[in-house]
Amino acid sequence: MELKAPRGTYDVLPPETAKWQYVEGVLRDTARLFGYSEVRTPIFEHTELFERGVGDTTDIVTKEMYTFEDKANRSLTLRPEGTASCVRALIEHSVYGGIMPVKWYYGGPMFRYDRPQAGRYRQFCQFGVEVFGSHSPFVDAEVIMLLVEVLQRLGLDGYELHLNSVGCPKCREIHRQKLVEHMVPVKERLCHDCQTRLVKNPLRVIDCKVRACQEAIAGFPTMYDNLCETCHNHYAQVKTVLGDNAIAFIQDHNLVRGLDYYTNTAFEIHIPQIGAQSAIGGGGRYNGLIQAIGGPDLPGIGFAIGMERLLLALETRPGAQRVGEEGRLQVFLAVQDEKYSALAMRLLDRIRRTGIISDRDYNQRSMKAQMKYADKLGARIVVVLGEAELARGTLVVRDMLSREQQEVPTESLTAVLKDLLA
Ligand code: AMP
Repeated sequence: MELKAPRGTYDVLPPETAKWQYVEGVLRDTARLFGYSEVRTPIFEHTELFERGVGDTTDIVTKEMYTFEDKANRSLTLRPEGTASCVRALIEHSVYGGIMPVKWYYGGPMFRYDRPQAGRYRQFCQFGVEVFGSHSPFVDAEVIMLLVEVLQRLGLDGYELHLNSVGCPKCREIHRQKLVEHMVPVKERLCHDCQTRLVKNPLRVIDCKVRACQEAIAGFPTMYDNLCETCHNHYAQVKTVLGDNAIAFIQDHNLVRGLDYYTNTAFEIHIPQIGAQSAIGGGGRYNGLIQAIGGPDLPGIGFAIGMERLLLALETRPGAQRVGEEGRLQVFLAVQDEKYSALAMRLLDRIRRTGIISDRDYNQRSMKAQMKYADKLGARIVVVLGEAELARGTLVVRDMLSREQQEVPTESLTAVLKDLLA
């Protein structure tokens, strides 16, 4: 049997890894800049956490979870997303007893059993932030500003920010009644799923992807028109802050969340250039979630962004191929004769101690082959440890860009290298 990575998973190999590290670095640095600290939670949790935290009517929980029994017959699930685990950790460690709000970020693999396609995997990576313990609309704005700052740092200007408010349970109930009144007369024109949704959760008919459903419900009463005063003001404040900070958004009445614990702000980021799976991230407020998971009545808000789609978007950016180049080999040490190997190791150590990324040949290649090898590795500079030069206490330093070379005294090698690389 030929062994391959399981369907819907992938390997990241060099030089692609450098791009991942670059994007991860930007995400981490930006989150830190905004005052967020990292949390790391287990890759698997008790299944019940996701049933409660993600919602037992969602596609994720009903169809997509990697659930298994361990040897003690506990039902465990590979995490399909990060928020539920963060909330579980917040409650378990009573973190909410400390300073509020709590501002966390996380990153790592998530698992969903879905049909793989471009931009959709069974193991994929998310980066996310969560803020617990503040009702302030300025926090909603901050979370969105953080996400936008990441995109700007990555040079991804072609994004669309979709924004909506899903209100609170109070105004949502009024909206729900109006929606039902609007939809019942056109029930026969809705798809099979939507006919069920109409009974169970009419809000979810709004984001159905079937064109006929959208046509049937055209002109539906929007949540926006039914927000209570508190929710209306909250939403207005978020939009004002975004406007103040020159962040453009699209008010999207179709952006809904099917679950009760989602409240107020909902948002999604799309990058249309990356194709059908253009949503690279999204989030919103979830004032009812912490209580639903068994904690105190605390508000929360967060977002999650998909790393694979972010990297895909990066590829559409001019100059993308140079991303991560800083990590490339800077100096290659060519050794003319195997008898200088020990000396080469001492020299390499000296070069590396100055922070210059360097390597040498270990397979006894000829001088010519070593030059080719250095070229393949993309080395900026080759240092030649040759017999004649050694006798004079010097080394040859060759700049692979300009193709110029010079003979330098061994003791000034690192200074010369630094100069050339500056
Ligand atoms: P969600 O947790 O479903 O709101 O997804 C947030 C983001 O995670 C999406 O916008 C995607 O970028 C990413 N994402 C979700 N599911 C997958 C998947 N199966 N494969 C790759 N990325 C995903």
